[in-house]
Amino acid sequence: MQEMSKKIALVTGANKGIGLGIAHQLAKRGITVLLGARDTARGEQAAAKLRGEALDAHFVRLDLVRPETIEAAAASIAAQFQRLDILVNNAGINDPADGPPSTADLNSVKRAMETNFLGTLAVTQAMLPLLRRAAAARIVNLSSGLASLEKNGDPAWDFASFKLIGYNASKAALNMLTVQPAYELRDTGIKVNSVSPGFVATDMNEHRGTLTIEEGAAGPVRLALLPANGPSGRFFSGDGFHPW
Ligand code: NAP
Repeated sequence: MQEMSKKIALVTGANKGIGLGIAHQLAKRGITVLLGARDTARGEQAAAKLRGEALDAHFVRLDLVRPETIEAAAASIAAQFQRLDILVNNAGINDPADGPPSTADLNSVKRAMETNFLGTLAVTQAMLPLLRRAAAARIVNLSSGLASLEKNGDPAWDFASFKLIGYNASKAALNMLTVQPAYELRDTGIKVNSVSPGFVATDMNEHRGTLTIEEGAAGPVRLALLPANGPSGRFFSGDGFHPW
């Protein structure tokens, strides 16, 4: 059986990009990291890469739009570790047929909502019993500056032209999935926060981002390791708060 002192973290969409960066940084801190991925070969390969650095990393099959994989992942974590200390809801998509409200493909908007919001809600619900069994669990939601209602309404904002109704709305909905669970869990040791990683060079933006994966992973990792007196139900970017 796993020693109680060693934390267990699940990072969704951890086979590449910011998710793999978060998994790497958490594992380097001595945490047992479960790399959620929808593709077995890609997930196994990413976990093997971390194990090659003598880190404690394991692949868990988890596809946000396939409920049976979420249920199976929760059952396997329960059987192997009995609890979960950290859940990083990182997996997400930016659908190519998304666009401004006047022209966005409706199926594309649906796909964004199904993965980024509903899928994340399903994973959170499935993992909550395991998170409740940990001493002081942390949930970190990978949101985006593009989620901000305040920024979306500011024509002078640097990203004002990034009007993707599906992506931006799904991440705004994800922010609700921070505020509401933080309220529901206010009398437990569990903290729930949203974070914008910044504009990070990954496949999602054809590597046009200006931050490295290590830089983008730093904020989510900090929130995954918040001390007992840390905040809950807040939206962060960098070291500070981000406007909702
Ligand atoms: P990425 O390189 O495209 O990685 C996305 C990850 O999510 C991949 O592992 C992908 O798996 C996984 N994924 C997608 N759909 C999934 C599903 N249905 N089930 C399970 N996994 C799924 O993107 P990234 O830039 O690292 O993004 C990570 C998170 O940060 C996302 O939530 C994104 O919205 C957010 N974010 C990114 C930026 C940025 O500048 N990059 C900015 C703000 C927020 P596959 O490899 O199988 O596709």
